[in-house]
Amino acid sequence: MNLTNPTQLKNILGSFGFSFSKSLGQNFLIDENVLNKIIEGSGINSKWGALEIGPGAGTLTRALSQNSKKTVAIEIDKRLMPLLDYTLGEFKNTKVINEDVMAVDLDALISEEFGDMDVAVCANLPYYITTPIIMKVLEDCHRVRSMTVMIQKEVAERMVAKPGGKDYGALSVAVQFYTEPKIVCQADPHCFMPQPKVASTVISLKVLEKPAVDVKNKKLFFEIVKSAFGQRRKTLLNALSKSPYINVEKEIIMGAIENAGLSADIRGERLSLGDFAKVCDYIDERN
Ligand code: SAM
Repeated sequence: MNLTNPTQLKNILGSFGFSFSKSLGQNFLIDENVLNKIIEGSGINSKWGALEIGPGAGTLTRALSQNSKKTVAIEIDKRLMPLLDYTLGEFKNTKVINEDVMAVDLDALISEEFGDMDVAVCANLPYYITTPIIMKVLEDCHRVRSMTVMIQKEVAERMVAKPGGKDYGALSVAVQFYTEPKIVCQADPHCFMPQPKVASTVISLKVLEKPAVDVKNKKLFFEIVKSAFGQRRKTLLNALSKSPYINVEKEIIMGAIENAGLSADIRGERLSLGDFAKVCDYIDERN
């Protein structure tokens, strides 16, 4: 069975009477080269567990089953269950769960299904929900070593962006706080059935042993980041003093900026993760 072969895939989908749902972001991968790059990029091996989000017809799932100790796939679309039984039936190390990934306690599921295995998350993500899924995995799941995911090209560019550029924002800081992100490859619309309107990128997020910067108050750190990028045209001083998320006197914010060795009129988009951490710790100690 080769599900990257468009004729075979069409025949199988047809025999189950399946029609694509646009609202569930169903664009199935039909490019073997890209499929192999996802597997390579994930660093998975026969001792690891694989968690897939949105298996679709099971194309990536089959490759994960062949390369992992155990594979678990979470699929929201009930119509795909009989089809997945057929395409994955030969793999005894593979389980499909019919759930909305956002409603699942992923950390508990990972412990239950994978025990003490290292876990790689792999997915061709539904684009309507990319960022919430990635943040849920990074914030909640302890055993995950890497996330290798197909996402919209622009979102991938924001994840790897460095301070100062137009793409650098709260998403860049959040992803780089938890992981080392690396672009694996590009995937043009013709790599999918049906073809999406946007270009896609495979990105690998290697989860760091500990966050990239030490902060005493993680919640405050992310509130500061959100405030700094919420009003990009304002200076950091103004953005933080007018922020609805934090309540700190202007003098303390000024002290934090000075203490971090930054200029008084700096904008948030110029701050590195280390700069944000310094500003955060200073404010935390005095608030
Ligand atoms: N992995 C398959 C492939 O590469 O061919 C399908 C990828 S397709 C872009 C996204 C898949 O995610 C679809 O099968 C869709 O039904 C599923 N999906 C969408 N929203 C979901 C959710 N909230 N929870 C779990 N799966 C979801």
